[in-house]
Amino acid sequence: MNMILLGPPGAGKGTQAKMLIEKYQIPQISTGDILRANLKERTPLGLKAKEYMDQGLLVPDEVVIEITRERLKKPDCQKGYILDGFPRTVAQALALDKVLAGMNSQVDHVISVEVDRNELLKRLTGRRTCRQCGAMYHVIFNPSLNKDICDKCRGELYLRDDDNEDTVRNRLEVYDSQTFPLIQYYQQKGLVRQIEGIGSIQQIFERIVQTLS
Ligand code: ADP
Ligand code: ADP
Ligand code: ZN
Repeated sequence: MNMILLGPPGAGKGTQAKMLIEKYQIPQISTGDILRANLKERTPLGLKAKEYMDQGLLVPDEVVIEITRERLKKPDCQKGYILDGFPRTVAQALALDKVLAGMNSQVDHVISVEVDRNELLKRLTGRRTCRQCGAMYHVIFNPSLNKDICDKCRGELYLRDDDNEDTVRNRLEVYDSQTFPLIQYYQQKGLVRQIEGIGSIQQIFERIVQTLS
């Protein structure tokens, strides 16, 4: 099963992806996680990406397309994958179609997770991310057992540089102008399933699983 999780920043894509990979035993491909891992290692790619990420802007298409192309070639993607945060522009979607066609593969499902603006702001500014394993928490909606410590790996939880209110507003604008048009792109291909993204994490998971079955 080859799936794309589409939706604005804060919709819960990463949270749901972590649950879906367990259920379906396929990997999650998050371009945001890959870029942050590069930044942590201070690679040239990571340092270049940071300039865009800190402003809430998209990293150039060529960069993320290349990252994803390489990742999709790995053997663990053969039984399927969950793309989370890619594609984010029509150019990326076109490039993805091309890469997949070259592998005799295609996108099977596009799950569009819908959450209103006010809720997104609350979710992103309250998000805490594990420095070590990347797990996401929320100070109110999904707190860790011990403040600032990851339940899964005991890593330190931090507030991402781009999860401050000003940058979040930019990211939401970028979503509207550059990523939202993708819904129509995939609708024309008959692939989109819209999911109401308000409710408990478990409820939303069940909605997605039901849609996929
Ligand atoms: P969120 O989960 O909050 O939507 P991500 O971790 O997916 O955030 O992305 C963080 C940042 O990384 C984005 O704001 C952008 O700068 C960069 N990024 C991630 N994926 C892409 C992509 N497909 N295209 C361009 N930039 C990306
Ligand atoms: P995305 O990957 O789409 O940017 P995340 O999965 O990182 O979104 O979730 C954003 C924030 O919202 C996190 O702090 C997460 O704990 C929280 N969150 C996720 N799902 C829900 C939900 N159903 N209700 C409330 N908060 C949620
Ligand atoms: Zn952790």
